[in-house]
Amino acid sequence: MSKTAAANRLANLWDDSKAAGMTEPEKLVYRSNLLGFDKRITNYGGGNTSAKVMQPDPLTGAETEVLWVKGSGGDVGSIRLDGFATLYMDKLRALKGLYRGVEHEDEMVGYLPHCTFNLNTRAASIDTPLHAYVPRKHVDHMHPDAIIAIAASRNSRELTQTIFGDEIGWLPWKRPGYELGLWLGKYCEDHPEAKGVVLESHGLFTWDDDAKLCYETTLRIINRAMAWFEGETVGKTIFGGAKHKSLDAAGRRGVAAALMPAIRGMISNDHAMVGHFDDQPAVLEFVNAQAMEPLAALGTSCPDHFLRTKIRPLVVAFDPAKPDVAATLADLKGMVEAYRKDYAAYYDRCKHPNSPALRDPNAVVYLVPGVGMLTFAKDKATARISAEFYVNAINVMRGASAVSEYCGLPEQEAFDIEYWLLEEAKLQRIPKPKSLAGRIGFVTGGAGGIGSATADRLLREGACVMLADIDEAALAETARTLATRYGSDVVRSVAMNVTDEAAVIAAYAQTAVEFGGLDILVSNAGIASSAPIEDTSLALWNRNMDILSTGYFLVSREAFKILKAQGIGGSVVFIASKNGLAASPNAAAYCTAKAAEIHLARCLALEGAGEQIRVNVVNPDAVLRGSKIWSGDWLSQRASTYQTDKEGLEEMYRQRSLLKRSVLPEDIAEATYFFASDLSAKSTGNILNVDAGNVQAFTR
Ligand code: NAD
Repeated sequence: MSKTAAANRLANLWDDSKAAGMTEPEKLVYRSNLLGFDKRITNYGGGNTSAKVMQPDPLTGAETEVLWVKGSGGDVGSIRLDGFATLYMDKLRALKGLYRGVEHEDEMVGYLPHCTFNLNTRAASIDTPLHAYVPRKHVDHMHPDAIIAIAASRNSRELTQTIFGDEIGWLPWKRPGYELGLWLGKYCEDHPEAKGVVLESHGLFTWDDDAKLCYETTLRIINRAMAWFEGETVGKTIFGGAKHKSLDAAGRRGVAAALMPAIRGMISNDHAMVGHFDDQPAVLEFVNAQAMEPLAALGTSCPDHFLRTKIRPLVVAFDPAKPDVAATLADLKGMVEAYRKDYAAYYDRCKHPNSPALRDPNAVVYLVPGVGMLTFAKDKATARISAEFYVNAINVMRGASAVSEYCGLPEQEAFDIEYWLLEEAKLQRIPKPKSLAGRIGFVTGGAGGIGSATADRLLREGACVMLADIDEAALAETARTLATRYGSDVVRSVAMNVTDEAAVIAAYAQTAVEFGGLDILVSNAGIASSAPIEDTSLALWNRNMDILSTGYFLVSREAFKILKAQGIGGSVVFIASKNGLAASPNAAAYCTAKAAEIHLARCLALEGAGEQIRVNVVNPDAVLRGSKIWSGDWLSQRASTYQTDKEGLEEMYRQRSLLKRSVLPEDIAEATYFFASDLSAKSTGNILNVDAGNVQAFTR
């Protein structure tokens, strides 16, 4: 075996010393995590594992056989003990007596809760009978690309026999459910020597009476499939060879940045969508290939794949040899509409009288020759995972089309899974989305006190956030903290000076590529300065004007461009200052620049209204805690103006306020969230002072 081939093999990670002290359920968790950790073994959320364990019945104390099987939802890579459903095996066996035949198989799901062992609240999945009726203690069901490639080949039965001999059997396509469970049980009884089965168009089952041997069998079978494919594909032209050449990395991102907001605008009708861009080599090989269009049209095979990616992608008409983004943008509407029509026709062709209503008819996956793949979903993690699933589908098409003819799942079968009433019930159980789910925020000064508190507030409501700041170290630290709190999918950061036009343009392009577009701009980056007018140098004056007025102008101008390209409205919030309304001693440059911000916001509110782009202002005052402004010169200058220290200043500001309260970054964040969200859908051109009350700043 060559060095690369050896490196490509799945390594046996089972550690006897770790497993030695484990109970059988703990060994099941261990095995599941080892398997799910490697995406070559199974895709995210795909597959399941089980163990049949003897344990005392909580009522009688008698030793009872219990099936531990991955519960509904969840991912084997990260599953814990509480992710498994537990069911009495004798009751599961007794269900056979209730079975009325394949046309009634869905009703069997309703009996599963009656088989629950020990009041476990984890719901049993549709795949439970597939594990229950295999008469072996340990069962793995995985979705390895290398096996699905066999399973999705025209002659998948012969290939299975050629590669695995009698060790691994083959069963024709059957939607997962009670009937398939019975088929598997029968196969095992008829073939006691077999170690597993390839399920056509679906995946792999393997089993053993020992947890470690079961794990090793799963690895061995997948490794054999991978080795076989490597041997078979050496020197072969893949996907019919290349039809297009990729643009360079910057060119690819540039096209994605232009296309993503436009697509997002067209498909965010009911719910704001988040985008994901992927141009890894496997994707580029496929989108550039001669065979891409016909293969893409066949649709994906494994049910997991098309549930995440829709049955087929939208191929965007774009020629990387003569790149004309404007022409593609002009044609995009027609392409999106044609896809929707096609999808509605598929629904009409395949629907049953009791099918759930037509769901979102837009594509999830967009393939762009020379550029890569764009995916869209209701949140960032789902958009990323959809892309991962399509990469799985590409790997499957690659393998199957190299050794045989690739077959998608028959359309009616795909529909019956997509619109399966049990699948619909799962969708109905999904909790209501948070108020900013699917929204994309851009926060300037995101590494500062008010900026980071605002980013936190938006993230807490389900938004994705791009933090932009000039302070790279603080930016990295804030991004790390927020990613730990909310997950790395939803937080990105970009080093950017708000006064640098090119950097601002590039930062928005980066936001478009990372998340697909923009909904919320929080223009907040700022400084403060203090000096009597005769000591205010031109440089100090210009610095205030540059960062505060010009900076706010640049970031909102570019935000407007992207918001208008999407055409789904948006919200711009300026963090100005009480000092923009009320004069303050020894701060003419700062106060004047802040007043300019407020007037700019009014002008933009006027310009944006026709496009449902709202522009509002939040005016903080004296937010000492968390603010970096209040740790430098500004602090000492203000303290000396009022002849006190930091503590004294905080107290002075508190006492100066009408409400006698301190203002915190979280208070500003709350007001900003109000303007950013639909709570204020009917407000634009407004000012909200968050200053604990200051009569000078009353608006009129
Ligand atoms: P902060 O210093 O903690 O945060 C400001 C952030 O802006 C910093 O992270 C800084 O690195 C960044 N920044 C500065 N110049 C930049 C530039 N050119 N490009 C990009 N980023 C830049 O201060 P804060 O209190 O959080 O202030 C945020 C906003 O609130 C400012 O606009 C400020 O004027 C306004 N404000 C603050 C107070 C207050 O009392 N803290 C009162 C009124 C208004």
